[in-house]
Amino acid sequence: MQYLYDDSGRRYLDAFAGIVTVSCGHCHPEILNAITEQSKLLQHATTIYLHHTIGDFAESLAAKMPGNLKVVYFVNSGSEANELAMMMARLYTGSLGMISLRNAYHGGSSSTLGLTALNTWKYPIPEGHVHHVMNPDPYRGAFGADAASYANDVQDHIDYGTSGKVAGFIAETMQGVGGAVELAPGYLKLVYDIIHKAGGVCIADEVQTGFGRTGSHYWGFETQGVIPDIVTMAKGIGNGLPLGAVVTTPEIASVLAQKIQFNTFGGNPVCSAGGLAVLRVLDKEKRQAHCADVGSHLLERLRFLMERHDIIGNVRGRGLMVGIELVTDRDNKTPAKAETAVVFEKLRELGVLVGKGGLHGNVFRIKPPMCFSKDDADFLVDALDYSLSKL
Ligand code: PLP
Repeated sequence: MQYLYDDSGRRYLDAFAGIVTVSCGHCHPEILNAITEQSKLLQHATTIYLHHTIGDFAESLAAKMPGNLKVVYFVNSGSEANELAMMMARLYTGSLGMISLRNAYHGGSSSTLGLTALNTWKYPIPEGHVHHVMNPDPYRGAFGADAASYANDVQDHIDYGTSGKVAGFIAETMQGVGGAVELAPGYLKLVYDIIHKAGGVCIADEVQTGFGRTGSHYWGFETQGVIPDIVTMAKGIGNGLPLGAVVTTPEIASVLAQKIQFNTFGGNPVCSAGGLAVLRVLDKEKRQAHCADVGSHLLERLRFLMERHDIIGNVRGRGLMVGIELVTDRDNKTPAKAETAVVFEKLRELGVLVGKGGLHGNVFRIKPPMCFSKDDADFLVDALDYSLSKL
């Protein structure tokens, strides 16, 4: 279900899926049933001893991964997943330097806040060994969609800012909090080569882009034709349950054998049962193809809306991960921050919940539950049309 109800019984169309978590829809019966049955059987035991639900879930998840990405670790959130991935990269390579993109969001814990490069989210934490490279943003980036020029910037950071060796590179394959920004085509392929030559590993943060949301592929990194060394995931993996995962190769995973690596709640039976049901439901209900179909309808209607409203500077996205950027003038791309806040409230009054993001808070983020229909998309676009006309 893609609707939420407030205390008075008023219905809202949820076009943000509870911060991109509710992948299959609110109160999905098969997921509710899986969680309930598992709760009756075993809510938690030590994760030192494997129970069959976590084993089944790990196997099913690994079966969704390409290449040699076969070792799964469960955690409770996206931040924890990225913490663990970063630690693996540093242990495996013996280097400390991490490279991440400007405009990225990788979490709110101390180390992942270091990777994050959006000052709206930054607290003054001691950061070290993180290099924030130019964002290959085709709309706002200095080099447009020229992937090679952005890749040169990565090489420059390695040449001038490190010993020549790095631990790793991390990127969302479409930036979520940063405002549904797609990376310039071909960028990841070029950068993965550079990073591997510098001895580092490549991490794909699939916290928002995974599980078929982009429509064209099951994982966002596939849209760039690469296979990462480590993949992190959370949010939609559990349809709202606190769950995250890190998937990597046996070779990289072997570095964690040096010490005990333990997470009390990661992969607990109830979340594992929910996660396993999510994988089943997404396949059974053909949600990836559905995202492709409804997403292209939504994008087409939004691009048509651009002709009616000059304040829409850019419409972008893939599948059901879409960004609508508002600007006060299209030439200078001046962020229409105040107007975005007004329209955001107007949409809520009309019964539509969307997300807001980007460094300037001027991007509407549309990432609904993956059961969102074409009728829902039409309702959203009509509400947006009306709200913009009232500015
Ligand atoms: N990575 C990405 C791409 C995210 O969007 C988020 C959260 O928004 C995180 C990591 C952090 O996840 P969590 O809030 O579950 O710690």
